[in-house]
Amino acid sequence: PVVTRFAPSPTGFLHIGGARTALFNWLYARHHGGEFKLRIEDTDRARSTDAAIAAILDGMRWLQLNWDGDTVFQSERAARHVEVAEAMIASGHAYRCYATPEELAELRERQKLEKLPLRYDGRWRDRAPEDVPVGAPFSVRLRAEQEGETTINDLVQGPVTVRNAELDDMVLLRSDGTPTYMLAVVVDDQDMGVTHVIRGDDHLNNAFRQLGIIRAMGWPEPIYAHVPLIHGSDGAKLSKRHGALGVDAYRDEMGILPEALGNYLLRLGWGHGDEEFITRDRAVELFDVEAVGRSPSRFDLKKLENLNGHYLREADDARLEALVGPRVAARIGRALDPAEQALLRRAMPELKPRARNLDEIADGALFLFATRPLSVDDKAAALLDDKGRLLLGRIADALRAEPTWTAETLDPIIRGIAEAEGIGLGKVAQPLRAALTGRTTSPGIFDVLLLLGRDEALARIDDRAV
Ligand code: GLU
Repeated sequence: PVVTRFAPSPTGFLHIGGARTALFNWLYARHHGGEFKLRIEDTDRARSTDAAIAAILDGMRWLQLNWDGDTVFQSERAARHVEVAEAMIASGHAYRCYATPEELAELRERQKLEKLPLRYDGRWRDRAPEDVPVGAPFSVRLRAEQEGETTINDLVQGPVTVRNAELDDMVLLRSDGTPTYMLAVVVDDQDMGVTHVIRGDDHLNNAFRQLGIIRAMGWPEPIYAHVPLIHGSDGAKLSKRHGALGVDAYRDEMGILPEALGNYLLRLGWGHGDEEFITRDRAVELFDVEAVGRSPSRFDLKKLENLNGHYLREADDARLEALVGPRVAARIGRALDPAEQALLRRAMPELKPRARNLDEIADGALFLFATRPLSVDDKAAALLDDKGRLLLGRIADALRAEPTWTAETLDPIIRGIAEAEGIGLGKVAQPLRAALTGRTTSPGIFDVLLLLGRDEALARIDDRAV
């Protein structure tokens, strides 16, 4: 059975590169009916924070990347990592190295000077037991294979080969007894039963080193898929400068829906023909990591917003009301009461068609909750000139004469005014919209009239009419 995992280091928030890695692992597992696990690689205690862990879990849940079994915390497994290192010493696959930090620094300096690759020279690899300084601190190093070469048949990168002579005897346990990342990853993947390691291609070089440990232990080798990193629109590796924000920023600051971000991240590096909108179910059905491209994909905020617009239009109105309500409340400086919430929900079909994010919906909804006299933007004010206000007076009279407001009763009234004035319907709607919303863009004029209701609409018109 397939077991994949996402193994973030909680030194920052869940950024979109990590989220995409998680998504690919999740999809691969679900596609194959396997398991998807989560391991928090918090061995760097100084740089790992609880806030980052919380943000990662939160982001995963928001993106609906549910994981199987308990969350594994790497820091809690140090004893097991040490145990494996000791087993490797016992079997001769690892050894104690007593080289001092000064000695190693000196070695590095010399290699730098001679322009040699920086590599441990194996000085403690074959030392006699009587050379060992009693009580001196030591690290534990892998006795790496020196001969031949290692090939990884990576599902994304294809076969990649490295000469073993290029890999030095890396440290497994530091002299303070703590396990290195290389050791911890391998031991944890083995113990978690991971069969497929899908991660960023910045880890490809590590895979060769990790295989050294796996082979020394005689463990099954995972299948690797190293996915190209996401780049910015300018082709450089994605960074803050490009909007490489945490997933929470896409949710909170940018008003993106999780299904839109998920669809977008999926299409960053993977696709199925020209299909742009791919639901999660469809992705589970189709996803194959071998179809992930080998070149980095470029992050394109416009595309994300277009996708988001699509998912906003698809989204349930009650759900959108819950998401947009707080944004409206923040803008008007008070909470919405239940009647206003219901109004917001009723307005949603008219508010969402053109919006690309939740903030645009909230902005579009503001006229519903504005207090009279409305503040009017410059463009709308220009429509409320003498001519416009005179017209509003006639509109008010005609509308007031109709006690029952529905789309059917209002339509002929407004058309009648247009005909009587010898102007187009749009010319009637313009000052009306300005008076009702304070703006020049809004949902259709009949929707605006009906959403505001007879009393409020007439009052807003009267505020401007002469
Ligand atoms: N903790 C590593 C990272 O966040 C990932 C390790 C792995 O996937 O093997 O980059």
